[in-house]
Parts: sequence; C-alpha cells; structure tokens
Amino acid sequence: MRALLKPILIPELGIVAFKPGSQLYPYFHRGRMLLENEPERMAGYPSGAIPAARQPLAEDPALQAVFADPRVIQRAGGINGLESWLKRESGCQWTHSEYHAESMTTLRHESGVIRLCWHCDNELRDHTTEALAAIAMANCAQYVIQAARTTLGFDDTHALTLPELCWWLAYNGLGDAIPESAARQLLRMPPVVVRSVTRESETAPTRGPSEIVQETAKKVLALRIDPETPESYMLRPKRRRWENEKYTRWVKAQTCACCNQPADDPHHIIGHGQGGMGTKAHDLFVIPLCRAHHDELHRDPVAFEAKYGSQLTLLFRFIDHALAIGVLA
Ligand SMILES: [Zn+2]
Ligand SMILES: [Zn+2]
Ligand SMILES: [Zn+2]
Repeated sequence: MRALLKPILIPELGIVAFKPGSQLYPYFHRGRMLLENEPERMAGYPSGAIPAARQPLAEDPALQAVFADPRVIQRAGGINGLESWLKRESGCQWTHSEYHAESMTTLRHESGVIRLCWHCDNELRDHTTEALAAIAMANCAQYVIQAARTTLGFDDTHALTLPELCWWLAYNGLGDAIPESAARQLLRMPPVVVRSVTRESETAPTRGPSEIVQETAKKVLALRIDPETPESYMLRPKRRRWENEKYTRWVKAQTCACCNQPADDPHHIIGHGQGGMGTKAHDLFVIPLCRAHHDELHRDPVAFEAKYGSQLTLLFRFIDHALAIGVLA
C-alpha cells in the first residue's frame, strides 16, 4: 500500500500524528512503515490511497502492434487469462448505452476481449464497430502491461517504462516484436529525418535500430565446437546431455509446429532412440507445440506422426528455421 497522509505535529509531546481514512486502517496493522517525502508529481493528489498509475505505454500508437500480437498475449497469460482478468472488475465497458444490466459477461472481438453487461452484450453481439475494436485493443494493452509489470515485481502504482516492457519481451523470446520506433528510442537514436541523398557515401547501409535490438535479444545460442572433449578419447564415453534453458525458452515462445498457433511447450523428441532411460533428448532436439498438439503426441506418437509427419522432419524444419534467422549461430 502507498498513501499520501497529512502529518499533524504535536511539538509539546514530540509526536507526529496521521489521520488516515477508515478504508486505509487495515494497512496499519502490518507493522513498521516506510515514510518518505511526497514526490512532486503527487503534489496535486488529495490525501489518501494513491490511485493506480496511468500507463502511458498503453496509449503509444507505436506499440499497438505489440499489444495485438497473439504471441505477446499468449506470454501475458493467453486470451482466457485476459477474460478472467477483465472479470475481476465490474462495470460495462460500452459507455454509449443508456441502460446497463447488473450481470457482466465478456465478448470476444477480433482485436481482443470486452467486458459488457448482458444487455449490451445482446445488442452488440454481432457488431464489429471501430469503437468496439478500440476498447478491445485498450484491454489487450492494459493486460500485457499488467502482466509485464507483475512479472518484473512492480505494484500498480508503477508506470511501466519502454525499456522495462522491451526487457520483458526479450526475456520471453519476443525480441522480434519490438517495433522499429521503439528500438530507436531504446537506443536513444534520433528520429528518422527524411532528406534527399546527394553523396554516395551517405547511402552506405547502416544497421537499423530494430536489427541491433533483435540481434541482442535473439542471439540466444552460440554452438561451441570442441573436437577434443575428454569423452571423445574414451572407449565407452558416458552420454553427456546438452542442456540449454535459454534455447528451450525461446522455442516455447515460437508457434506450434503443427498448427501455427502460439506454442505452449518445448517438446523433446521421443522415440527415434530418444526419451528412454538416460536418453532424454538434448535441448537442441526440441520443437514448439501448443498444448493440444503436445497432448496428442504423447497420447499416441505413432498416430501423431502419421498425421503431422515424423518428429524428425518437424525437428529438421525447425532447426533450419532457427539457423536461418540467426537464433542458432
Ligand atoms: Zn452495458
Ligand atoms: Zn498446435
Ligand atoms: Zn513432449
């Protein structure tokens, strides 16, 4: 809890007293508190609990594509998570209606989810207006921001900054979702100035900000070549299992190898001499799968491979992709 309170000095007794509103009482039962001077930006607030911070990033037009990215929503907790997050509060989000019902529900829209009362839900069910899209979009933005904010350990009085959001994206293997203009701001590069180029030297290609940020975020794995490991001299070397959590985390943030929906798990190849006693596949032998396809595979690997192709083919295709975009280098 954070609150603004007006101190009352009682010099005769050497005491400073505070008079919080009754809704703040519970917070004073928790033991010691930290006192701090009022920051300037809160000078205009009346005393009392500090309201949740406005999140300027949510309104940044350059970031709308990030908040609409299905992979980003997935990492924030998925569309179902978004629905239950919206249901934690009440109040119909369709403010254009005169009448609202008591009960709330959520409506899925192309660009996200909206909280509506039963009345407005009935009225709007088959409509897709720009106004609805804007509400759905704003919900996605707030949802992603609160997910990133919570993961990074900030409470709701914290306004998430661009570097924090980008760190959260990069950490979740989504560095490529950071748009050009945001990357430019991150690197403190001046905004693009369009001017006519006269000398050839000025046309020399330079690395763009997105490229720099993505390379930094994406270089998850450099394969090391060592032709002379101790095991390579042994007659019957003990199997060393190659582990790389950074790589499997990136894999899981990709799309499912079967259906192209956001993946939920990195699946280690089974069968093909892998996944038996002491032969769990190396972390390089993983493919991204959504929960449904992952379950389907483990239920019946033979039927799965008949339907989607051999895990080896899927793996080959996936490693080819990882090398082609420089994630493996
Ligand atoms: Zn309503
Ligand atoms: Zn799938
Ligand atoms: Zn698996």
